[in-house]
Amino acid sequence: MSRIFERRYELSRRALLRSIGGLGALAAMPLLSREALAQPIFRSNPFQLGVAAGDPAPDGFVIWTRLAPEPLAPGYGMPAAPMEVQWEIGTDSRFEQVVRKGTAIARPELGHSVHVEVAGLQPGRPYHYRFLVGAEKSLTGRARTMPSPGASLARLRFASLGCQHYEQGYFTAHRRVAAEPDLDFVFCYGDYIYEGRSERIWNGPFGPIENIRQHTDAELYSLDDYRRRYAQYKMDADLQASHAAAAWFSIWDDHEIHNNWVSGIDQDGTPPEIFALRKQAAVQAYYENMPLRARSFPVGPSIQLYRRATYGDLVDFNFLDTRQYRTDQPCGDQWAATCAERERADAQVLGQAQERWLFDNLSNSRARWKALAQQIMVMDLDRNPGEAVGYNLDSWAGYVRPRDRLLRHISDRRIGNAIVLTGDEHQHYAGELHLDGGNPDGRPIATEFVATSISSGGNGQDQRPDMIEIQRANPQLKFNNYQRGYLLCEVTPERWLSEFKVLDRVTERGAAISTRARYAVEAGDPRLVAA
Ligand code: FE
Ligand code: CA
Repeated sequence: MSRIFERRYELSRRALLRSIGGLGALAAMPLLSREALAQPIFRSNPFQLGVAAGDPAPDGFVIWTRLAPEPLAPGYGMPAAPMEVQWEIGTDSRFEQVVRKGTAIARPELGHSVHVEVAGLQPGRPYHYRFLVGAEKSLTGRARTMPSPGASLARLRFASLGCQHYEQGYFTAHRRVAAEPDLDFVFCYGDYIYEGRSERIWNGPFGPIENIRQHTDAELYSLDDYRRRYAQYKMDADLQASHAAAAWFSIWDDHEIHNNWVSGIDQDGTPPEIFALRKQAAVQAYYENMPLRARSFPVGPSIQLYRRATYGDLVDFNFLDTRQYRTDQPCGDQWAATCAERERADAQVLGQAQERWLFDNLSNSRARWKALAQQIMVMDLDRNPGEAVGYNLDSWAGYVRPRDRLLRHISDRRIGNAIVLTGDEHQHYAGELHLDGGNPDGRPIATEFVATSISSGGNGQDQRPDMIEIQRANPQLKFNNYQRGYLLCEVTPERWLSEFKVLDRVTERGAAISTRARYAVEAGDPRLVAA
């Protein structure tokens, strides 16, 4: 045993002795030798929440785990003390060649989560990673570093997904994502958890639906509530498989805190200083449970989530946060309605700082494609075709001025090859983006691909009856589907291809995945073409 290992075991022995009184999760091994005594022994596997990698860079990525031998118990089976965790990066899955390793501290203040920002790796290649504590090993995860800045890149493949309601369906889509060959990364637009209480029956679009499994708790308010909800979701093996298969770029939508919250406002009219307490708890739990870099470390009820990632000379990704800096939804946030407040002059979707940052990125980008990877729909579909008009007021359509500024910036600066990636709707959509009143040359300004939900909404069907009418009334909408799945994007210098993946059902495990439609955009022409 090396000196380093001796010291490490000595440290963990002391941590163990400090924490052993009254804690069921830890029990000392028989006193056979100093080394044996020194190892923390867990009654059950401390890595039950899996592993994850995130935010790739050319020289590394962040790797994540959270020690929780009893994930749903108070204190999740961990001593109220810091504990050392070892990590390894290998070029092969058996770790015959370990190229980086180190030690991190899992702290009780952070729910015994570990975020390691690994650096010093080679660009544009896959690596394997794992964690070790005592005699326990985590699952093995896999992540690719980004190519070198500006490198010529022939192809990029990634999945876009989100909206995983635990009660409404199995996470089979994640299992299928994990089986996709050569994914560079996964983009999660949000609704990673849902904050609601346990419900057995809910009002589906066509009548009552019985949930396939249930949340453990009441609605989430405290840090412990949110921690336990993440634990319940993360115990899902399909979700663990998709985390282990590729690094994720994660942002949130609303349900990581509360349905349709924006800024300091919730839908229940809670005083902002009170809502801020719930938000602070939710923000901390989000950071603890996602593979985020230290730049996203929470500060009170705030967290820095918007960020940029440039894949060689091919795609410049702007990951946007459309919740934290947005003004209140207009017209009382009714469904498929409208009112003068939609045109409010001081309305914000991104907030001034993020909007300026995005516009500068779009203007300065040298990449072939510019992606706006975000949550809410930019197409201003009329959702109430017939005598009246109505919009989804919790989308960009509720914010006429900010939407117009965004599209005008893209149009005026002649920013070509802009692609918007969206979620939140629990449906697949492909559509074209136009300025209000039409574009100067009649062509769209950019293209939008909306990814359906992983499970929210249950099994679904090919198209909702109301959507047939809506699609007819909105010619910019080229494709729509109401099944569960994800979006798979394959990008080359010549074209952006999006495949709409759907599952035949989510109420049973192991459903088959198929490609419902393929739509492409040729470089230089934002019109959608069936591929
Ligand atoms: Fe959702
Ligand atoms: Ca949402």
